[in-house]
Amino acid sequence: MLLNTYNRFDLTFTRGEGAYIYDDKGNKYLDFVSGIAVNCLGHANEIITNAIFEQSKKLLHISNLYYSDTQMDLTNTLVSVSKMERVFYTNSGTEANELAIKIARKYGNQISNQKTKIIYMSDSFHGRSTGSLAITGQSKYKAPFEPLMPNMIECKFNDVEDLKKLVDDNVCAIILEPIQGESGIKKVSNEFIKVVKEVCDKHKCLLIFDEIQCGMGRTGKLFYYEYLGIKPDILTIAKALGGGVPIGACLTAGIANDVLVPGDHGSTYGGNPFVCGVANAVVNEIVYNGIIENTNKMGKYALKKLNELAKKYDVIKEIRGEGLLIGISLNKDKIEASIFVKLAIENKLLLVSAGDNVVRYFPPLNVKKGEIDESIEKITRIINSFK
Ligand SMILES: *Cc1c(COP(=O)(O)O)cnc(C)c1O
Repeated sequence: MLLNTYNRFDLTFTRGEGAYIYDDKGNKYLDFVSGIAVNCLGHANEIITNAIFEQSKKLLHISNLYYSDTQMDLTNTLVSVSKMERVFYTNSGTEANELAIKIARKYGNQISNQKTKIIYMSDSFHGRSTGSLAITGQSKYKAPFEPLMPNMIECKFNDVEDLKKLVDDNVCAIILEPIQGESGIKKVSNEFIKVVKEVCDKHKCLLIFDEIQCGMGRTGKLFYYEYLGIKPDILTIAKALGGGVPIGACLTAGIANDVLVPGDHGSTYGGNPFVCGVANAVVNEIVYNGIIENTNKMGKYALKKLNELAKKYDVIKEIRGEGLLIGISLNKDKIEASIFVKLAIENKLLLVSAGDNVVRYFPPLNVKKGEIDESIEKITRIINSFK
């Protein structure tokens, strides 16, 4: 039996194809969860299955005592498409953030043993390890495990005055999700991010963007920071990076590049030849084979269709997002997001709830127009079934 940490739905899936997934009874579902923004190319994508097969015939794992061709290839790809400069591979998003914390702390300590504070945002989500929980702005996840790592300071997201009050020379880093995912698809404001950048420069703190959910093309650009015109010192990515194989990465630029030296960090599995071979195929497909263009086109189309529903039905409060990172904010007095998700399952549509009574709408990035139309029909049916 599994440890009791998830309220799972009573569904067992056995296979998938593109945007569709099939349960053990042969029922077909439209999968607009995409494994929580992981399966960017859909299920059983040929590019991925080929990369898995080909790499499995060569090398799976060698440890990080040596170089591998696929790890170097992926590194060159990521550096060239992100304009970041150094990469460390992890097995998950949480671990990438964990490393970002370590780089920030060591960077600060090198300047002064007082420069250890990290500012994070209210309602943020950065993972479930004790380090990443300490910078997650949601007490429901943290409270049972306190005390967590000290000197982590919560700032009200998008509140310039609060930020100015909290920041000083003893801050070594500011971390944020440019679009908060888990707490309900909330964008950083242009005004706030501008001030974040200013105070980072003024107080010499590292700027860390967690693009684990919003990165890798989901917003219609490879990284959301391209919309902001602000490059971070540290960028963490995961989820869609491997298209379904577990891989994350912590990327650095400029002053963050040379903080760590041999012996400071490590990972047995991180970035092994297998996951890097697959991720390299995924990233190349996203960047060079029209996936970002499709995300833009389909994102605009889905937002238009969903906004039409929002106009028609007051169950929907607001549609939020960018590209195919979309949140359907529901009126709480009409329906709970969790109930909506259950009704969606009955209508053979998979969606995932988020904070703030939001339902996340995450098609694969290669979704077709007809599949968006099908989802809109299903959502219309769901709304009509209870209103
Ligand atoms: C999912 C997520 C994480 C945690 O990633 P894991 O791979 O589950 O460890 C961290 N930050 C953000 C923004 C996420 O969406």
